[in-house]
Amino acid sequence: MRKIVAVSGKWIKPLVFALVLGVAALAAAGGAAAQALAVVPEVTVVLDAGHGGFDGGVVSSEGDREADINLAVTKRVKRRLEEGGVRVILTREDEGALGVNKKEDMQKRAEIIASSGANAVISIHVNKYTKSYRRGVQVFYGDSGTGGAFAAKLQSVFNTYINSKYSGREYSALAGDYFIAKCSAIPSVIVECGFISNGEDLKLLRTREYADEIAECIFKCVTAGYNL
Ligand SMILES: [Zn+2]
Repeated sequence: MRKIVAVSGKWIKPLVFALVLGVAALAAAGGAAAQALAVVPEVTVVLDAGHGGFDGGVVSSEGDREADINLAVTKRVKRRLEEGGVRVILTREDEGALGVNKKEDMQKRAEIIASSGANAVISIHVNKYTKSYRRGVQVFYGDSGTGGAFAAKLQSVFNTYINSKYSGREYSALAGDYFIAKCSAIPSVIVECGFISNGEDLKLLRTREYADEIAECIFKCVTAGYNL
Protein backbone atom coordinates (compact mmCIF):
# COMPACT_ATOMS: atom_id res chain seq x y z
CA MET A 1 0.00 0.00 0.00
CA ARG A 2 1.36 3.38 -1.00
CA LYS A 3 2.17 5.51 2.02
CA ILE A 4 1.07 9.12 1.71
CA VAL A 5 3.70 11.61 2.74
CA ALA A 6 4.04 15.35 2.50
CA VAL A 7 5.86 16.39 -0.65
CA SER A 8 7.24 19.76 -1.55
CA GLY A 9 4.62 22.10 -2.92
CA LYS A 10 1.84 19.79 -2.03
CA TRP A 11 0.51 18.74 1.29
CA ILE A 12 -1.02 15.46 0.53
CA LYS A 13 -1.87 13.28 -2.41
CA PRO A 14 -5.44 12.32 -3.09
CA LEU A 15 -6.83 9.66 -0.93
CA VAL A 16 -6.68 6.28 -2.52
CA PHE A 17 -8.49 3.42 -1.00
CA ALA A 18 -6.71 0.14 -0.93
CA LEU A 19 -9.21 -2.53 -1.58
CA VAL A 20 -8.25 -5.74 0.06
CA LEU A 21 -10.11 -8.47 -1.69
CA GLY A 22 -10.07 -11.81 -0.01
CA VAL A 23 -11.63 -14.67 -1.89
CA ALA A 24 -12.02 -17.98 -0.18
CA ALA A 25 -13.00 -20.71 -2.58
CA LEU A 26 -14.73 -23.53 -0.84
CA ALA A 27 -13.92 -26.22 -3.37
CA ALA A 28 -14.92 -29.01 -1.05
CA ALA A 29 -18.43 -27.56 -0.81
CA GLY A 30 -19.04 -27.72 -4.52
CA GLY A 31 -17.49 -24.43 -5.69
CA ALA A 32 -19.31 -22.02 -3.38
CA ALA A 33 -17.15 -18.95 -2.78
CA ALA A 34 -17.10 -16.45 0.07
CA GLN A 35 -15.80 -12.99 -0.65
CA ALA A 36 -14.47 -10.59 1.96
CA LEU A 37 -14.05 -6.92 1.15
CA ALA A 38 -12.37 -4.43 3.44
CA VAL A 39 -11.60 -0.75 2.92
CA VAL A 40 -8.33 0.32 4.47
CA PRO A 41 -7.97 4.06 5.16
CA GLU A 42 -4.73 5.54 3.85
CA VAL A 43 -5.12 8.93 5.48
CA THR A 44 -5.13 9.59 9.22
CA VAL A 45 -6.06 12.96 10.70
CA VAL A 46 -5.74 14.11 14.30
CA LEU A 47 -8.65 16.37 15.26
CA ASP A 48 -7.88 18.52 18.27
CA ALA A 49 -10.87 20.17 19.94
CA GLY A 50 -9.26 23.21 21.52
CA HIS A 51 -9.51 23.95 25.25
CA GLY A 52 -11.75 21.93 27.63
CA GLY A 53 -12.26 21.44 31.35
CA PHE A 54 -10.74 24.26 33.39
CA ASP A 55 -10.00 26.11 30.14
CA GLY A 56 -13.25 27.18 28.50
CA GLY A 57 -11.55 29.30 25.84
CA VAL A 58 -13.28 32.46 24.73
CA VAL A 59 -16.83 33.10 25.89
CA SER A 60 -19.69 34.92 24.16
CA SER A 61 -21.66 37.76 25.72
CA GLU A 62 -24.44 35.19 26.21
CA GLY A 63 -22.20 32.66 27.93
CA ASP A 64 -21.41 30.24 25.08
CA ARG A 65 -18.05 28.61 25.80
CA GLU A 66 -15.58 28.08 23.00
CA ALA A 67 -14.53 24.69 24.43
CA ASP A 68 -18.07 23.35 23.98
CA ILE A 69 -18.44 24.69 20.44
CA ASN A 70 -15.04 23.27 19.51
CA LEU A 71 -16.03 19.81 20.70
CA ALA A 72 -19.38 19.91 18.89
CA VAL A 73 -17.75 20.98 15.61
CA THR A 74 -14.94 18.44 16.02
CA LYS A 75 -17.48 15.60 16.38
CA ARG A 76 -19.18 16.61 13.13
CA VAL A 77 -15.82 16.82 11.33
CA LYS A 78 -14.90 13.38 12.68
CA ARG A 79 -18.20 11.98 11.44
CA ARG A 80 -17.72 13.40 7.93
CA LEU A 81 -14.12 12.26 7.61
CA GLU A 82 -14.89 8.74 8.83
CA GLU A 83 -17.82 8.53 6.44
CA GLY A 84 -15.32 9.18 3.69
CA GLY A 85 -12.90 6.53 4.88
CA VAL A 86 -10.43 8.75 6.73
CA ARG A 87 -9.07 7.46 10.03
CA VAL A 88 -9.58 10.01 12.81
CA ILE A 89 -7.82 10.35 16.15
CA LEU A 90 -9.26 12.79 18.69
CA THR A 91 -7.18 14.47 21.39
CA ARG A 92 -10.28 14.83 23.58
CA GLU A 93 -13.70 13.21 23.26
CA ASP A 94 -15.55 14.91 26.12
CA GLU A 95 -15.71 18.26 27.89
CA GLY A 96 -12.73 17.51 30.15
CA ALA A 97 -9.19 18.81 29.79
CA LEU A 98 -6.24 16.47 29.23
CA GLY A 99 -4.33 17.70 32.27
CA VAL A 100 -4.61 19.64 35.50
CA ASN A 101 -3.14 22.78 34.00
CA LYS A 102 -2.52 24.32 30.57
CA LYS A 103 1.06 23.03 30.33
CA GLU A 104 0.12 19.44 31.12
CA ASP A 105 -2.93 19.64 28.85
CA MET A 106 -0.89 20.82 25.88
CA GLN A 107 1.82 18.24 26.55
CA LYS A 108 -0.74 15.43 26.48
CA ARG A 109 -2.07 16.71 23.15
CA ALA A 110 1.47 16.81 21.78
CA GLU A 111 2.03 13.21 22.91
CA ILE A 112 -1.13 12.05 21.13
CA ILE A 113 0.00 13.85 17.96
CA ALA A 114 3.55 12.42 18.23
CA SER A 115 2.31 8.84 18.45
CA SER A 116 -0.52 9.24 15.91
CA GLY A 117 1.33 8.57 12.66
CA ALA A 118 -1.14 11.07 11.18
CA ASN A 119 -0.89 12.85 7.84
CA ALA A 120 -2.34 16.05 9.27
CA VAL A 121 -3.38 17.71 12.52
CA ILE A 122 -6.39 20.02 12.59
CA SER A 123 -7.03 21.97 15.77
CA ILE A 124 -10.57 23.35 16.01
CA HIS A 125 -11.14 26.72 17.69
CA VAL A 126 -13.43 29.75 17.76
CA ASN A 127 -12.18 33.32 17.53
CA LYS A 128 -12.97 36.48 19.47
CA TYR A 129 -12.22 40.08 18.56
CA THR A 130 -12.78 43.44 20.16
CA LYS A 131 -14.67 44.66 17.08
CA SER A 132 -17.91 42.73 16.78
CA TYR A 133 -18.16 43.18 13.00
CA ARG A 134 -15.22 40.81 12.39
CA ARG A 135 -16.40 37.41 11.24
CA GLY A 136 -15.52 34.38 9.12
CA VAL A 137 -13.30 31.31 9.13
CA GLN A 138 -9.54 31.77 9.50
CA VAL A 139 -6.74 29.22 9.24
CA PHE A 140 -3.41 29.49 11.04
CA TYR A 141 -0.23 27.43 11.01
CA GLY A 142 2.91 27.26 13.11
CA ASP A 143 5.68 29.68 12.18
CA SER A 144 8.20 26.84 12.41
CA GLY A 145 5.77 24.09 11.46
CA THR A 146 5.06 22.30 8.19
CA GLY A 147 1.41 23.26 7.78
CA GLY A 148 1.76 26.28 5.47
CA ALA A 149 0.68 24.67 2.21
CA PHE A 150 -2.17 22.79 3.83
CA ALA A 151 -3.30 25.94 5.65
CA ALA A 152 -3.33 27.95 2.43
CA LYS A 153 -5.40 25.34 0.64
CA LEU A 154 -7.81 24.94 3.53
CA GLN A 155 -8.24 28.71 3.79
CA SER A 156 -9.04 28.94 0.09
CA VAL A 157 -11.73 26.28 0.46
CA PHE A 158 -13.24 28.08 3.46
CA ASN A 159 -13.16 31.34 1.49
CA THR A 160 -14.98 29.72 -1.42
CA TYR A 161 -17.64 27.78 0.45
CA ILE A 162 -18.19 29.67 3.72
CA ASN A 163 -16.64 33.15 3.86
CA SER A 164 -17.97 34.25 0.48
CA LYS A 165 -21.38 32.90 1.41
CA TYR A 166 -21.80 34.49 4.83
CA SER A 167 -19.56 37.52 5.17
CA GLY A 168 -18.03 38.28 1.79
CA ARG A 169 -14.66 38.69 3.48
CA GLU A 170 -11.81 36.42 2.47
CA TYR A 171 -8.74 35.72 4.56
CA SER A 172 -5.21 34.48 3.96
CA ALA A 173 -3.76 31.73 6.12
CA LEU A 174 -1.44 33.22 8.72
CA ALA A 175 1.60 31.88 10.58
CA GLY A 176 2.06 32.32 14.30
CA ASP A 177 3.66 30.99 17.45
CA TYR A 178 1.14 28.21 18.00
CA PHE A 179 2.45 25.28 20.01
CA ILE A 180 -0.09 22.76 18.73
CA ALA A 181 0.72 23.66 15.11
CA LYS A 182 4.45 23.12 15.44
CA CYS A 183 4.93 20.49 18.15
CA SER A 184 5.49 17.81 15.48
CA ALA A 185 6.69 17.47 11.90
CA ILE A 186 3.14 16.64 10.77
CA PRO A 187 1.45 19.39 8.69
CA SER A 188 -0.72 21.07 11.33
CA VAL A 189 -3.27 23.86 11.20
CA ILE A 190 -5.57 25.73 13.52
CA VAL A 191 -9.06 26.42 12.19
CA GLU A 192 -10.85 29.33 13.84
CA CYS A 193 -14.39 28.44 12.78
CA GLY A 194 -15.90 31.88 13.30
CA PHE A 195 -16.06 34.77 15.76
CA ILE A 196 -17.91 34.26 19.02
CA SER A 197 -17.93 38.07 19.27
CA ASN A 198 -20.06 38.42 16.13
CA GLY A 199 -23.77 37.82 16.52
CA GLU A 200 -24.26 36.22 13.10
CA ASP A 201 -21.26 33.93 13.47
CA LEU A 202 -22.39 32.94 16.96
CA LYS A 203 -25.80 31.91 15.63
CA LEU A 204 -24.08 29.76 12.99
CA LEU A 205 -21.61 28.27 15.46
CA ARG A 206 -24.50 27.00 17.57
CA THR A 207 -25.89 24.92 14.70
CA ARG A 208 -25.09 21.45 13.47
CA GLU A 209 -25.64 22.62 9.89
CA TYR A 210 -22.77 25.09 10.09
CA ALA A 211 -20.52 22.51 11.75
CA ASP A 212 -21.30 20.24 8.81
CA GLU A 213 -20.28 22.99 6.37
CA ILE A 214 -16.95 23.30 8.20
CA ALA A 215 -16.65 19.51 8.08
CA GLU A 216 -17.33 19.39 4.35
CA CYS A 217 -14.58 21.92 3.63
CA ILE A 218 -12.09 19.93 5.69
CA PHE A 219 -13.19 16.74 3.96
CA LYS A 220 -12.61 18.32 0.54
CA CYS A 221 -9.05 19.11 1.55
CA VAL A 222 -8.08 15.69 2.81
CA THR A 223 -9.63 13.45 0.21
CA ALA A 224 -9.69 12.78 -3.49
CA GLY A 225 -11.84 15.00 -5.63
CA TYR A 226 -10.12 18.20 -4.62
CA ASN A 227 -7.17 19.31 -6.71
CA LEU A 228 -4.53 19.77 -4.04
ZN1 LIG B 1 -9.24 28.69 21.13
